[in-house]
Amino acid sequence: MDDISPLKGQSKKPRILIVGGVAGGASCAARARRLSEDAEIIIFERGPFVSFANCGLPYYVGNVITHEKNLLVATPELFSKRFNIEVRVQSEVTAIEREKHELKIRNHLTGEIYTEKYDSLVLAPGSSPIKPPLPGIDLPGIFTLRTIPDSNRMKDWMVEKNVKRAVVVGGGFIGLETAENLVKRGVAVTIIEMLPQVMPPVDPEIAASLQEHLTANGVTLHLGDSVAKFEYSPINNTLGVTTKSGNRFECEMALLAVGVRPEVSLAKQSGLEIGALGGIRVTNQMRTSDENIWAVGDAVEVRDFVTGDWSLIPLAGPANRQGRIAADVILGRDFTFRGVQGTMVCKVFNITVAATGVSEKTLQRLKDKGQEIPYEKVYLHPGQHAAYYPGAKPITMKLMYSPKDGRILGAQAVGEDGVEKRIDVIAMAMQKHATVYDLEEAELCYAPQFGTAKDAVNFAGMVAANALRGDNPIAHWANVKEPGTFVLDVREPSEFKGGHFESAINIPLSVLRGKMNELPRDQEILVYCGVGQRSYYAARILRLNGFPARSISGGMMTYKSVKNTL
Ligand code: FAD
Repeated sequence: MDDISPLKGQSKKPRILIVGGVAGGASCAARARRLSEDAEIIIFERGPFVSFANCGLPYYVGNVITHEKNLLVATPELFSKRFNIEVRVQSEVTAIEREKHELKIRNHLTGEIYTEKYDSLVLAPGSSPIKPPLPGIDLPGIFTLRTIPDSNRMKDWMVEKNVKRAVVVGGGFIGLETAENLVKRGVAVTIIEMLPQVMPPVDPEIAASLQEHLTANGVTLHLGDSVAKFEYSPINNTLGVTTKSGNRFECEMALLAVGVRPEVSLAKQSGLEIGALGGIRVTNQMRTSDENIWAVGDAVEVRDFVTGDWSLIPLAGPANRQGRIAADVILGRDFTFRGVQGTMVCKVFNITVAATGVSEKTLQRLKDKGQEIPYEKVYLHPGQHAAYYPGAKPITMKLMYSPKDGRILGAQAVGEDGVEKRIDVIAMAMQKHATVYDLEEAELCYAPQFGTAKDAVNFAGMVAANALRGDNPIAHWANVKEPGTFVLDVREPSEFKGGHFESAINIPLSVLRGKMNELPRDQEILVYCGVGQRSYYAARILRLNGFPARSISGGMMTYKSVKNTL
């Protein structure tokens, strides 16, 4: 590829103006400078900081990150010295005059309003926390967490009011991470979540272990209910949070973490196309409906990698990559954004949850809308590393794939260790349109302290591929209630006694070959064990002996997290 390409068809010294100086804006600016020494690049940032680590804010609230300065990934001085990029903080862009290629800017420090011309404009204004219009929403002690000043206000309030109880409204990743950090500061936390589960991007059975873990760490979960009103009680100087179901929680502080809305006021006001989801519409080169204006990050709608639908994914990775692509395109390179997979990870206390691609909930929703993507799924619970090496812990994994060709549609995992590594591998495989057969063959790092010679990712591929090839057809717990099924537990009697599926009969794998005559030949046999391994062996024995047997994916470990839904 040619070295640095000049801005095609534009002036020799292109003027690139960028609105918003954090994830998308800052990465766009830095990339643009690496591609052009000639371009004049100016970032306008409304807040007092540029390129700060908003992802670190929950940990700053929890005093894990002790100094505000540690959140500053770069400063205006660094941008100036290292990149020759001018950063104007406390400078809000208030209007875009598209015909004149001009921005109107308000300097919040001086009150001055002035204009600047652009050749190319990049909008990276991010998103803003949703504040539902509930009674009492503006009461003191109710916070949102988006900026460093937001977190400082929260921290000051905690000290000033000696906060002992907090309500976190919303069980997504910002709510959960902040809940953990509040607990670590000795605060009793209640999470109120409208959905019947926390962490909405993953499916309920994956969220179940997260919920268990939160409860075990003292967090009160109030799921399937939403806030109706906030009230201040002057008698005891507390905030009362009442839910729609009539429950009331007293606290000294509440955090609203119910999602974000793309910041599109500038784009709207200047007539740029806005999508049905409320984000700025862009091409796969991050160009808006105006050919001289690009938009990136939380503010834009992009295509979902799996479904092809428009989607809003407010995550730092896509924002950074989109910023880079916008700079590439502005400076003459023909790059495109591949779409978002929603690859995410969140750690709460000792447990990590991660996901990529579509969830089963999304696949079901598409089916209900008549846009079905056929899928099959497997569950597995491999160790994060060799069982014989100290500290082995299971990872619960769920893999969704196309039954037609094995193409991977999505994966989710939860566990104490090694979770994000597996999801990252699968995320990359998905980008290359890989199938479960590719996961079978993936050659991954192995030493006993890191994995197993057949890694969890290989196992996921093998289980799914075995099912697709017909070697080990998979059943799910939802199938056990179907009429005419015979449920067989192949664990040892001691395990069976410790809890089993109500109608199951127990024939341990070790004696199965000698007891096959006790099994029906005219009924489908659904076999289960602890995690799905012994049931696979058993189902193979049975199938090779002419029995119509299927192994229940994930075994009893999966049963524990799905039994309430059966
Ligand atoms: P932002 O990074 O929000 O930057 C937008 C900037 O534009 C803001 O600073 C704003 O002040 C400025 N701006 C807006 N309008 C104007 C205007 N008119 N004039 C001038 N400036 C303007 N993502 C992850 O992937 N992993 C995580 O662990 C994670 N944790 C998070 C934790 C928290 C508490 C928060 C708030 C977010 C977290 N995110 C995480 C999300 C991630 O931070 C965002 O997806 C990402 O920052 C979006 O980048 P952006 O450039 O679109 O917007």
